[in-house]
Amino acid sequence: MARRQLLIRDRTVGTTPRRSILLQRVGAAVLVACALLPATAPSATTQPATPTGPRVPNELGRIPIVEWHQVVAADGTYKVSRERFRAELRELHARGYVPVNLSELLDKTMDVPAGKTPVLFTFDDASPSQFRYIERNGTLVVDPTSAVGMLLDFIKGHSDWKAKGLFCLLPAAEAGHAFFGDKGIDGQKTEWRFKKVQFLASQGFELCNHTLWHAKLNKYSDAVVQEQLARGAMAIDSAVPGYRVRGLALPYGLWPKNRALAFNGSWYDTQSKRSVRYHHEAVFQVSGGPARSPFDPAFNPKSLPRVPLQGGTTLSTTLDQMDKPGAWARYVSDGNPKTVAQP
Ligand SMILES: [Zn+2]
Repeated sequence: MARRQLLIRDRTVGTTPRRSILLQRVGAAVLVACALLPATAPSATTQPATPTGPRVPNELGRIPIVEWHQVVAADGTYKVSRERFRAELRELHARGYVPVNLSELLDKTMDVPAGKTPVLFTFDDASPSQFRYIERNGTLVVDPTSAVGMLLDFIKGHSDWKAKGLFCLLPAAEAGHAFFGDKGIDGQKTEWRFKKVQFLASQGFELCNHTLWHAKLNKYSDAVVQEQLARGAMAIDSAVPGYRVRGLALPYGLWPKNRALAFNGSWYDTQSKRSVRYHHEAVFQVSGGPARSPFDPAFNPKSLPRVPLQGGTTLSTTLDQMDKPGAWARYVSDGNPKTVAQP
């Protein structure tokens, strides 16, 4: 309860000195979304792209962690068009990928049918383009043209996919990037914000920290870094009480000067006179290609690479590479969660 009260204070910024500091910082942190670095494909092995016949189980292979930002009318930097988003879902499905959650990856409990490959969807920045509500006859409906609407529609038509994926949230950034909407931006009402976060969790999606307002963690003091991360996690807890936040997506892929603070830290709230702690088991980069399998001894959840999807990139390029033997060869399930199939 105390936590919820704390967040309410954040949401009504404006009167105390602390609040005005927060406002200034929010003003400075104009949201540009994550900086993306080109993924470098491993050199070498040239083999036929598409093997014929059933895929050979290989549970030490790679798993793509795909990363979307805004899903809007046209492709651009940090943007994919709605048509392209749908096409990417279709392509992943057609090529034998099945969504899993971060917790299944970390706990090594992915239950994927034989011959299929897990994929982890990540959505950064909590924009209304990802999750919009519309009012229809007095009830709230997920906008079918927002990413969540399109994904849920796709799942409805493909029973082998479940509502899984990770939303890396900003509770208090600018331009509506505050739990998917704020202050009427994109037609969204401030009071819908918690409802959206709760809806995602209730559907089976998972929630991840992306800081309070997309702070560049490399340029702040240890104290501010911890405040950003503790309050990011606290905001999620305020929406879904007791929620265990296990992941952090670094804004722009920038580490704090003291890297350990990305994983553990605390922030003392002077108003409530209590300390708020956070713990992230997984930290996401913004690029780097498909991730290692959790069964690979070199799997490192503390620095997980991702496959960014935006204007100028194609999903097919990465998936083609994963269909070849070599360092990026895809994870292929043997259908038995109790065994780890090695080629
Ligand atoms: Zn971001």
